[in-house]
Amino acid sequence: MHYRVLIIGSGPAGLTAALYAARANLNPVVIRGLQPGGLIATTDEVENYPGFPDAINGFDLADKMEKQAARFGTTYIDGIVEAVELRERPFRVTLDSGETHTADVVIIATGASPRKLGVPGENEFANRGVSYCAVCDGFFFRDKRMVVVGGGNSAVEEGLFLTRFASEVVVVHRRDQLRADPIIQQRAFNNPKMRFIWDTVVTEILGDGKVTGVRLRNLKTGAEEVLPTDAVFPYIGHIPNTGLFVGQVAMDENGYILTDGRTRTNIPGVFAAGDVVDHIYRQAITAAADGCKAAMEASWYLDNLDAQAVGAETAAEGLGQW
Ligand code: NAP
Repeated sequence: MHYRVLIIGSGPAGLTAALYAARANLNPVVIRGLQPGGLIATTDEVENYPGFPDAINGFDLADKMEKQAARFGTTYIDGIVEAVELRERPFRVTLDSGETHTADVVIIATGASPRKLGVPGENEFANRGVSYCAVCDGFFFRDKRMVVVGGGNSAVEEGLFLTRFASEVVVVHRRDQLRADPIIQQRAFNNPKMRFIWDTVVTEILGDGKVTGVRLRNLKTGAEEVLPTDAVFPYIGHIPNTGLFVGQVAMDENGYILTDGRTRTNIPGVFAAGDVVDHIYRQAITAAADGCKAAMEASWYLDNLDAQAVGAETAAEGLGQW
């Protein structure tokens, strides 16, 4: 099927791009991808998205965005993009189902994925105690000790969320200061179920069919210890989901897509929005704003394309008359 605008990814960037493209009568299609709704859909309470003074559940926020874009003519495809061809026109996108779609414009909004610790046991015990989604999996470890790794907003906020279920949440951080916002730090320090182990890294996840503990190393003293736990939640940042576009779209050395500040990539007609571009702000609101810009840029790009086509046709007609 051919589309004017094809959007890859269904987080706040992709869904806002869809909303604006739909309202510009471009009938966009969104390929939902591995994580419908994006990372925000795995967040419990979103307290900083304007318009929701009492906070909103991340899944509900994504769901509302999806419905809003659908109302103006967005269609959705449940699928995972396996290959893209952006060097030829129309652009071509192949899904895991084998379906191929073409488009005049592609908006890349594939987001970012949790960074892995890269230690023995992490892959082996994935979904058997190792999880990157507190909201999805915290419930399964009721009254157990849980370990969270990292010192940023995600680690501390998700750790706080886990205290609803846990007997204790132990945050293991490689420095002796958190990176998280002061207000979030304060909440964590005030929570009797939160404990911090400073200057320490996880060197191995231990288990027997499922997680039973973590091996820790203190970076200052070199001392090692085993901390028994049932669950490990690494929250140590993200890596952009850009593997599909390597060799086609210009990226920086960390794999973030480069744009000109107006969401335009090095390929005319290919735009990028959200966490796939942004390693600084990484907020739902900034991703949504990016999605809006990408759709407006796409609309102007298509207007130009149409004007050129009409110009070429008129010129050809003119030639014919000659
Ligand atoms: P982040 O701010 O980059 O924090 C990552 C944390 O993981 C840091 O504390 C870092 O340690 C640690 N880390 C990185 N690599 C590590 C490794 N290999 N081993 C052990 N520890 C490691 O990532 P984030 O928490 O996912 O947040 C990303 C962005 O989203 C930020 O801009 C954040 O403000 C934003 N965010 C905002 C909210 C909110 O506003 N409510 C909620 C969640 C996220 P160092 O501190 O030593 O570097």
